[in-house]
Amino acid sequence: MRTLTAFAAGMAFWLCGASQGMTEARLNVLCGVDEAWCMTMEKAFEARAGIDISMVRKSTGDILDQIRAEKSHPTVDVWWGGTGDAHLQAASEDLLDRYQPDHEHDMLPWAQNFFAMSGSRSAAIYAGALGFAYNSDLLAALKLPAPTCWQDLTKEAYRGHIQSGNPNSSGTAFTMLATLVQLLGEEEAFRYMAALNRNIVEYTRSGSAPVKAAARGEILIGISFMHDAVTLKEAGAPLVIVAPCEGTGYEIGAVSIVKGSRNARAAQAFVDFALSPEGQATGAAAGQNQVPSNAKAALPPAAPDITMIKMVDYDFATFGLSDERSRLLTRFDTEISPTQ
Ligand code: PLP
Repeated sequence: MRTLTAFAAGMAFWLCGASQGMTEARLNVLCGVDEAWCMTMEKAFEARAGIDISMVRKSTGDILDQIRAEKSHPTVDVWWGGTGDAHLQAASEDLLDRYQPDHEHDMLPWAQNFFAMSGSRSAAIYAGALGFAYNSDLLAALKLPAPTCWQDLTKEAYRGHIQSGNPNSSGTAFTMLATLVQLLGEEEAFRYMAALNRNIVEYTRSGSAPVKAAARGEILIGISFMHDAVTLKEAGAPLVIVAPCEGTGYEIGAVSIVKGSRNARAAQAFVDFALSPEGQATGAAAGQNQVPSNAKAALPPAAPDITMIKMVDYDFATFGLSDERSRLLTRFDTEISPTQ
C-alpha cells in the first residue's frame, strides 16, 4: 500500500506526463543485481514515485541479449544493475537512450568518467572488486591449503572444487575474463583459463551462484564479486574472502534507459531515484555491499575497502566494445568451454 506522500508524488508525475500528452504505463525494469536488492528497489521506487514496476532479475549477458533481440520492438524500459562494460557495449550498439540524470554532478570521479565514456547513455550506480571466496569448514574437512592467489586456483589440489560463472551470461565472469587478460596478457590469460578449467566443476549462468554454493558448503571455492561474498558472510556463512595476490579487476554497475522505451518519463524518474542517496541506500537496506557512486550516499559498513585492494586499471573503453566482447567470448567458447 502506498503512502499519501507517494500517492501525491505519483499524481504530480501523472498529471505532468498527461499534460505533455504522454501515455505512461507500468515500468519494465530488468535487474542485474542480487534478487534481494531487486525487490527492495522495486518497493522503494514504487513508494517514492507512485509508479508500478515490473522488475525481473537476469544475468548481465542475458539482459544484453534480450535488449539486442528486441531492438525493433523494445519491451524493457530500464536496465538497472549488472556490469558496466555490458552497458557500454549496448551504448556502442545504439541500444540505449541519452539522459542527463539529476544527480550526475554528485557522482564520484570514476562514475562521472563512466557516464562520459557511455556518451551520456549509461550512469554508474556502484563499484565492486572481483575475487573469490572459500568455505573454511570444507577447507578444513578436506585438509587443503588456503588459496590466496589466482595461480593457486589452477593447482591439482582444487580439482573439482571450483565454480565460476559463464562469461556469456554472467557479467561477473566476463569481468574475470577481461581482468585476466589485463593482468596477464591475452595469451597467458587463455593458458591460465585452460588450466583453471580442469578444476572447474560447473560454469553457472549467474555470477553469484558460485559463491552462494560455497556459502552452502556445496562447493569449496566460488569466484565472485567480493561484495557478494561479504553479504553471505554477514549472514553467517563460513566464507573466507580473498583479494587475489596478483591483483584483480572491478566492475562499475550501471543503469541505462533502453532506446525506444514507451515510458520515457517514468524511466528517467527511475534513473534519478537510482542515483539519489535515497535510492542508493536501498543497496545497504537489502544487505548489499557495493560502493555507491553518489558522493552523498552512505557506504555500507561492511563494504570491502576497494582502495586497499591491488587493482588493475580496468580498461572500460576496450572491454566495453561489442566486437571485443564477442571476440573474447568466441575464444572462450572455442578454447576453454563450449557453452551449451
Ligand atoms: N551480483 C552482484 C552483487 C553484482 O553487483 C553483479 C553485477 O553487477 C552481479 C551479481 C552480476 O550478475 P551476473 O554475473 O549474473 O551477471
